[in-house]
Amino acid sequence: MKFTFYLPTRIISGAHCVWEHRALLKELGTRAFIMTGKKSAEKNGSFAEMTEALSAEGIEWVHFNAVTPNPSLTEVRAAAEEAKASGADFIVALGGGSPMDAAKAVAVLAAGDVSDQQLLSQRKFERVLPLVAVPTTAGTGSEVTPYSILTNDALQTKSFLNSEQVYPRFAFLDGRYTMELPQAITAATVVDALSHAAEGYLAVRAIPLGRTLALESLRLIGTILPALAEKHALTLEQRETLLYASMLAGIVISQSGTTAVHAMGYSLTYFKGLDHGMANGLLLAEYFRFIQQNRAEEIQQIVDALRLQSIDAFGNMLETLLGKITLTAEEVERFASIAINAGNILNTNPQPSKEDLHNMLSNCFAK
Ligand code: NAP
Ligand code: ZN
Repeated sequence: MKFTFYLPTRIISGAHCVWEHRALLKELGTRAFIMTGKKSAEKNGSFAEMTEALSAEGIEWVHFNAVTPNPSLTEVRAAAEEAKASGADFIVALGGGSPMDAAKAVAVLAAGDVSDQQLLSQRKFERVLPLVAVPTTAGTGSEVTPYSILTNDALQTKSFLNSEQVYPRFAFLDGRYTMELPQAITAATVVDALSHAAEGYLAVRAIPLGRTLALESLRLIGTILPALAEKHALTLEQRETLLYASMLAGIVISQSGTTAVHAMGYSLTYFKGLDHGMANGLLLAEYFRFIQQNRAEEIQQIVDALRLQSIDAFGNMLETLLGKITLTAEEVERFASIAINAGNILNTNPQPSKEDLHNMLSNCFAK
């Protein structure tokens, strides 16, 4: 059994974990650059609790609150200039995948002279600032991955920074911060985590340890899908379970990467403005049908772990959670042409041809 596993992030979970473990922050320096989106971190308590912890440890901080969903290369470069000017020793990200991913890019760009091309192709950099991640969606799992996914306007898609140096040093998981997530964001982000677990389970680069975590993540998500579909308000315990499951799914893709679903999903986000999780979710059932032709037993294991009866039941559940969209024939063709060039296609087994991608997109979205 050949595999390697590397995860340098210290994961700290539980209510009030930032405050209780605040002494760790001092290991990273005396000046922090805090990155958040526009509003949510101040509303969900994570900003107040983090700044209180930093101040209690004698750490100065500057707040950058302009990260937008699906941050772009241009945006992270501008943020990095501010981080540099602030003299920050480390970066703190509070938010969903967007602030966490933006913070990873800033950790590289603020520490050295790195071009966009180097940022997206190099695995090693001379210097990277340490990073603290506090996820407030459940989620992307970015708190435990070496990836930063950035909107690349030059290529009209999303591109990756992939470096072990951007794994967060600390990930603080406090489910209280996710309590007020609106239904639509909860659903889209849970489906993103589900997609990571399922794709990571099926990926060419899947490892045994990752497959075990993937099934556990799917099992946990499966216990909460019915409440989500019925639009019940989730309890703190359910929120904590989702945050834990999304972290597990993040560990899965940190080792295995994602597959064709993410490759196709990027166009739905770039051109149609769909949330990342919704973009993946709407493709998942059709992807399962495609993979099932060669790997029926494994697809059955995933469906069973989610406590669903069939791929059709799974597709219906996703439609209830996420809604529906349609694409024109031109869009289907264009998105298949872009997706076939994505690196994650090679990580898909069986490997789809452009025609396969076209068929999947068409079956999902054709008018
Ligand atoms: P997001 O883009 O970070 O946030 C979406 C929305 O949710 C924002 O409007 C945000 O508001 C709001 N929000 C965040 N936390 C909230 C809370 N606790 N309560 C209420 N609202 C809250 O969403 P995301 O789905 O977590 O992240 C998506 C990004 O992650 C994409 O760019 C995707 O490509 C990337 N991603 C990365 C990885 C990885 O491994 N690095 C994996 C999957 C996806 P504010 O703007 O006000 O904060
Ligand atoms: Zn994702």
